[in-house]
Amino acid sequence: MFKYNLSYWEKETFLKPIDVAVIGSGIVGLTAAIQLKTLRPDLQVTVFERGMLPTGASTRNAGFACFGSLTELLDDLTHLSEDELLTVIEKRWRGLQNLRSMVGDAELDFQTLGGYEMFTDDEEDAYQDCLQAMPDFNRKIGAITGHREVYIQADDRIEKFGFQGVRHLLLNQPEGQVHTGKMMAALLQKAKALGIPILNGVEISALEDSSQGVELKTAFGWTIEVPKVLVAVNGFARKLLPQLEVSPARNQVLISQPIPGLKVEGCFHYDRGYYYFRNIDGRILLGGGRNLDSGEEQTDEFGPNELIRTSLVALLRRVICPDQIVDVDAWWTGIMGLGPEKKPIVEQVSRNVTVSVRLSGMGVAIGTLIGQEGAELLLENS
Ligand SMILES: Cc1cc2nc3c(=O)[nH]c(=O)nc-3n(C[C@H](O)[C@H](O)[C@H](O)COP(=O)(O)OP(=O)(O)OC[C@H]3O[C@@H](n4cnc5c(N)ncnc54)[C@H](O)[C@@H]3O)c2cc1C
Repeated sequence: MFKYNLSYWEKETFLKPIDVAVIGSGIVGLTAAIQLKTLRPDLQVTVFERGMLPTGASTRNAGFACFGSLTELLDDLTHLSEDELLTVIEKRWRGLQNLRSMVGDAELDFQTLGGYEMFTDDEEDAYQDCLQAMPDFNRKIGAITGHREVYIQADDRIEKFGFQGVRHLLLNQPEGQVHTGKMMAALLQKAKALGIPILNGVEISALEDSSQGVELKTAFGWTIEVPKVLVAVNGFARKLLPQLEVSPARNQVLISQPIPGLKVEGCFHYDRGYYYFRNIDGRILLGGGRNLDSGEEQTDEFGPNELIRTSLVALLRRVICPDQIVDVDAWWTGIMGLGPEKKPIVEQVSRNVTVSVRLSGMGVAIGTLIGQEGAELLLENS
């Protein structure tokens, strides 16, 4: 990284009037900045983003507008009480409605094509457990979503989708999908329309409380002092605030070449949610497999993992599209922020620093709420 000092003009014009610095321009940082400016139009809110674009999870995810597949919910019940779990589901559902009203269904390309959970031949026990739990979940989650039957059996669609080696499908009827790129473009546009500067290419390397507020150190060597800071860097949080219980989790993702006559439609979860795929623009987007090499994938560095990539290609060719030759067009990785519990951290961590981090792989669903909560907490403590 090259080093330099700020000029007088840069300091006075671009960096001096800041009242609140938001670090990170993912879904959480942008929503927080928008909320701060909406509630307090008099404040100068500036977003610092180390990437050319948001470069964490928000522009790199799968775009599932999901609130819980049955194996995941049953797994959650091993460490959460039922009330706690229903609160998480309610938050995801409310978060999705919040995202839709904030951005608009047309801008999001929001579609309710359903979310399927896929069970292969050797997963009969897990499937039976889900079937047994389904009526109870339907009653309780129906009360949250207003849908009479959220989960139904959908084995009759296995042939239609053309899968091989799949024994059962369970369908979550109200689950939707969004176009992740359009979602983020719309949020960036909203922030800019409110006059929020987004300074791209600026990595904050450290934060320190100071007499005037907080001193932000940048990787360029210059520092600035701002009165208040909201940290929204999710999987990268420990680099700035090592005391936070947030671990990075890298995810490998592929997009196939266009597949003529693609039969797959909707969002699909497999192996307790470790794998996920969907249709987009006549292609398959497929990601996950982190559990195959979780040690290696506990990193905030982008990069390939050949073991996982090989397993994703095998799943694509053998199970999802077995009848035709399907090639991978491109790969990428994204970084999630996880913790010992699936609960985001929205906290004031020092006199002038608030954090909204640890989205636990659910940021499309709850990101806007977590950004707004962080903004409101920061204003309460101002
Ligand atoms: C592959 C993948 C698939 C996913 N699929 C789904 C899905 O289908 N549905 C769903 O609900 N969720 C999904 N998620 C999770 C969801 O994308 C995240 O929970 C959400 O995007 C987190 O948003 P965020 O704003 O907190 O973090 P991020 O989007 O990671 O934003 C943090 C930003 O901070 C910036 N930053 C970091 N450090 C610094 C620094 N020191 N200085 C300046 N800037 C910094 C980063 O560049 C980044 O832009 C997925 C995640 C991944 C990785």
